[in-house]
Amino acid sequence: MRVVQRKVPAPADLGLELIGVPQGADLDLDLRLESVSEGVLVSGTVTAPVSGECGRCLRPISETLSVPIQELYAYENSTTDETTEEDEVGRLQGDLFDLEPALRDGVVLALPANPLCRADCPGLCPECGVHRDELPADHSHQQVDPRWAALNNLNNLIDSAPTEQARAARGPDHEEN
Ligand SMILES: [Zn+2]
Ligand SMILES: [Zn+2]
Repeated sequence: MRVVQRKVPAPADLGLELIGVPQGADLDLDLRLESVSEGVLVSGTVTAPVSGECGRCLRPISETLSVPIQELYAYENSTTDETTEEDEVGRLQGDLFDLEPALRDGVVLALPANPLCRADCPGLCPECGVHRDELPADHSHQQVDPRWAALNNLNNLIDSAPTEQARAARGPDHEEN
């Protein structure tokens, strides 16, 4: 068994739409390489800085991600090599193995599809785009465009109409059945 600790630059496009590892950022690899009968089992953790933006308010997010990875790399011409598909098990290429697919899977699976700057981020006001943190609790946009005011009054009238009818129906002189 061998322990390998290495710092490597992050490949391009390591992440999702809103959050990911910046290209060229330091990936800290902390790996154990174990010789097994059919090849080399690589396991350990990868630690990387991630940056992105909050899915609700677009504030920048910057944190450190640490994910476990494990992958078997089969020897060329071993039974495993001959009986498995390329995407099931890795392959040693001479003395080398390509960690990138396993690393990519581990990192991408650990990233949130909808990242948040904090769990209870209230987001932005859809009307004015200001962060709700910076607005009073009773913030609203009730002022109606004067051109719509007349229509709004009409709506109020329609809304109240059934109530009037209901009150009339419940009148003292109303008898049914
Ligand atoms: Zn946010
Ligand atoms: Zn607003």
